Amino acid sequence: MKAKVIISLLVIFAAAAAWLLSQESAKKQHGNAAYDHTAAILACGPRPPESEGLDKAQAYITREMAKHGWKTVKHSVVRDTPLGKKTFTNLIARYGDHELTHSDDLKNLPATLILGAHLDSKLIPELPDFLGADDAASACALIVELGNTLAKENPAMAKQLEIVFFDGEESFNENMSLESGDGLYGSRAYAIELYKRATKPKHGIILDMVGHKDLDIAIPIDSPKDLAAMMMAAVDKYGYQKHFGMAKGGILDDHYYLNKAGVPTIDIIGDFQHSHWWHEEGDDMDLISADSLNMSYDVAMAMLKELLQ
Ligand SMILES: [Zn+2]
Repeated sequence: MKAKVIISLLVIFAAAAAWLLSQESAKKQHGNAAYDHTAAILACGPRPPESEGLDKAQAYITREMAKHGWKTVKHSVVRDTPLGKKTFTNLIARYGDHELTHSDDLKNLPATLILGAHLDSKLIPELPDFLGADDAASACALIVELGNTLAKENPAMAKQLEIVFFDGEESFNENMSLESGDGLYGSRAYAIELYKRATKPKHGIILDMVGHKDLDIAIPIDSPKDLAAMMMAAVDKYGYQKHFGMAKGGILDDHYYLNKAGVPTIDIIGDFQHSHWWHEEGDDMDLISADSLNMSYDVAMAMLKELLQ
């Protein structure tokens, strides 16, 4: 009799342990998926403007998102750069069965929220193989997972979202400059179109460097206050305070021209200013962690759900 009770207890204990483990891995599934998307984007090769790698990465994202009902369209512009004329191509995704064959169609598809990241990797002559894993393939990978999960779980919300994978965030000179216009090529071109729309999205979220193994998000101090508070509320809810905070100053990134176009946009960006890997050797897959991507996923998804209600 006693033996039977012990065996029953052991079976219950084993089942409970297995359930806990499966819950734990289910919680991380989004981080794992984003990690795999990051690796797939890096496998396309370096992704500077006009590169084969960028083309391949855009095709990968298009395929992965099409599986869940997202349509994509390209938005290309030609701009003068320190290296002469270059073509920059943003990839824009919308969910649902609307007509979307040209980027002009976006004017007839009002959205509530923009979610974006830059897909281009910096062209660094001394580092021809520079991959930009956390700057910013990981953010694009996370957006693929966010978009696909939202489409599965909440299609009405997905319809309200405009996803943009920017080209030409990186400058050709060492540092970007508003004065010379080197850098932010794709988001500036997108913001000009946005400015012309009769109905603009209410908010924007930019993600950049959100997968670092030592995740240290430091949002610029000029972030829209309501969006910063919303992010911190999500951080508190999940207990991620160690990994998310405010930067000491402003940051020049793709949110800049979206804000100028009248769409208050937060830049959820990792602290690159104190790093030894930013625009250096080492920004590769070894830097990326599924756990970090999972934390960024939780916070971003909480914000999406609140802003798309
Ligand atoms: Zn960069």
